[in-house]
Amino acid sequence: MYYYWSMKKLVVGNWKMNPASLKEAQELFDAIKDGIKGAKAEVVICPPFIYLSQLKGLPLGAQDVFYEERGTFTGEISPTQLKDLGVEYVLVGHSERRKLGETSELVAKKMQAALTAGLKVILCVGENEGENKEEVLRQQLAGVSGVIVAYEPVWAISTGDPYKTKALPTPQIVKESADLIKKILGDENVRVIYGGSTNAANAKEYLEVVDGLLPGGASLKADEFVKIVESASV
Ligand code: PEP
Repeated sequence: MYYYWSMKKLVVGNWKMNPASLKEAQELFDAIKDGIKGAKAEVVICPPFIYLSQLKGLPLGAQDVFYEERGTFTGEISPTQLKDLGVEYVLVGHSERRKLGETSELVAKKMQAALTAGLKVILCVGENEGENKEEVLRQQLAGVSGVIVAYEPVWAISTGDPYKTKALPTPQIVKESADLIKKILGDENVRVIYGGSTNAANAKEYLEVVDGLLPGGASLKADEFVKIVESASV
């Protein structure tokens, strides 16, 4: 069993399928790297797979992983291949992958393989609009241990312009969700981070109730991301 003890806040930038070129990826990465020099938070960048071998100087995470080590699995990337590139973290079970048909069974296999390979797993969980949160979390967290959990209510992700959104979960709701996750896992010390339209303006209040953030859209703007990291540098 692995635990990631750290007093530091964790900020994980999920670039999703962005940016469009290696040149832009390098520029964004360098701007973030320069901007967060001296920051006290733990920062991880999750670019698309194809950029992982090119970006140096900040901890990297992959956005997904396969569960086998090698073989006839066209298009897949294994945990050991990621480790070989120096990748430290991996997102598993992101809702955008679950939406593409990834089941909890598949998520569990990926999580196990990644942990076995020594990757730090950030397991993404969260309910769709209208679903029973506790039921969903209990199902998504069954048998889980040794991971960082990202609570990402699906209805709050990628709402577009982060300043003109429909209502996001209040910090109080995020706190209750983090407490519920700890209760389900029977582990007070599990690191729980929040993702869902976080930005420079709302980072601080969420960071009061969770151990870190998982910004998507806001991680594509160096200035915005750097401000989030500053809020997390406590
Ligand atoms: C995410 O990618 O997990 C995410 C929360 O994205 P956004 O911040 O754009 O909502």
